[in-house]
Amino acid sequence: MPTHAHTFALRSLAAALLAFSLGAGAGAQTQPAASPQASAIPPLVDAMYPRLDALYKDLHAHPELAFKETRTAALLAAEMRAIGFEVTEKVGGTGVVALYRNGPGPVVMVRTDMDGLPMEEKTGLPYASQARTDWGGRDSFVAHSCGHDIHMASWLGTARTLVALKDQWKGTLMFIGQPAEETVSGAKAMLADGLFTRFPKPDAAFALHTAPTPHGAIGYGIGISSSNSDALEIVFKGRGGHGSRPHTTIDPIVIAARFVTDVQAVVSREKDPAEFGVVTIGAIQGGTAGNIIPDTVTLRGTIRSYKPQVREQLLAGVRRMAMAAAATSGAPEPVVKLVPGGEALVNDEAVVTRAAAALKQALGAAQVVQSTVPSTGSEDFSAFINAGVPSMYFTIGVLDARDIAASAQPGGKPLARNHSPFFAPVPEPSIKTGVHAMTVAVLSALGR
Ligand SMILES: [Zn+2]
Ligand SMILES: [Zn+2]
Repeated sequence: MPTHAHTFALRSLAAALLAFSLGAGAGAQTQPAASPQASAIPPLVDAMYPRLDALYKDLHAHPELAFKETRTAALLAAEMRAIGFEVTEKVGGTGVVALYRNGPGPVVMVRTDMDGLPMEEKTGLPYASQARTDWGGRDSFVAHSCGHDIHMASWLGTARTLVALKDQWKGTLMFIGQPAEETVSGAKAMLADGLFTRFPKPDAAFALHTAPTPHGAIGYGIGISSSNSDALEIVFKGRGGHGSRPHTTIDPIVIAARFVTDVQAVVSREKDPAEFGVVTIGAIQGGTAGNIIPDTVTLRGTIRSYKPQVREQLLAGVRRMAMAAAATSGAPEPVVKLVPGGEALVNDEAVVTRAAAALKQALGAAQVVQSTVPSTGSEDFSAFINAGVPSMYFTIGVLDARDIAASAQPGGKPLARNHSPFFAPVPEPSIKTGVHAMTVAVLSALGR
């Protein structure tokens, strides 16, 4: 980013903050605050909260996996129709597009994701998920262990709040329920199904995500804010046989074990240590019994990076290590599938600067924190940005600050973060902050 652009942004941020402080202080009579609706939002959210709480707990107890979010999508569609949105379903599979036209003005998109994860919830909460489903041919538990249910409740509350405030802004709201965020494929599916051709192309877009930080806290970045994500699937082929006669076999378990450790040398010895890159093998399947050497072993994993050149280096290294691990045992060439996933997410400087100033004004500057370190996670919200929509993706904290502090003590209970079976957002303050923050962010892009 050129230095002068950065300086300009800082100047306009300073100017915006000055305008806000004038508006909020003694000059309030003569100089309106940039967001006169800000103080109207919390009472509206308090009044609607019981409904949002019931919706949240219902969604939490009934999670669905990527591209199978039919009950979830139907629930969101019905709620949005009741609020007054014009709703189209089945966009990109199970996606939902809800439009609310309120005169001439910008089109602002708000995304929620809808999918849960193939894992067992162990929170013990009264509304914990017991759901099970088929996952790639196997029976699996399903749980909202990434907080996408908090996103949906916040999304519904934001729609309701903005409609309640419709006399105070002009423009079009485009609220979308995106399938399959966890598999980093739902955003592309919606785009391929005409999201920005059958419906208006937004002037700005927002998405929020839960984070294992104290509820009430907002985090955001300018520029690169999440990682490139690629999936790997490798099938090592051996020759099966009796466990007592290994010399008559080619053992793919040994090949897989060698690969799992060797591949980390790509990260530690080939990649520049100053650059971010991760290779994780998250699943290994092979074998049925202790005395049988199987024919094949399948590994699945994820490869993360920020920069395109690091991404290429990791992908090439994974492939080379897989080939080498098989060759070392004299095995046939493995089947190596490297599936491109989401691109790194790049927040727009102008959209973020305006929204961050409004968020600090509404929620308190101490609660709205700019991070200079991108997340190592990935997010296919980046697909909408790369389709040409200047955007802001931000995080909302969902945990109790006391639990976070206790986990930092020696011997403290480890913090249950996103994707932990114990991940348990505190619903009321998390959802209320989600609605408040998202409403303020949207209003900032609507020029209010
Ligand atoms: Zn997740
Ligand atoms: Zn997520």
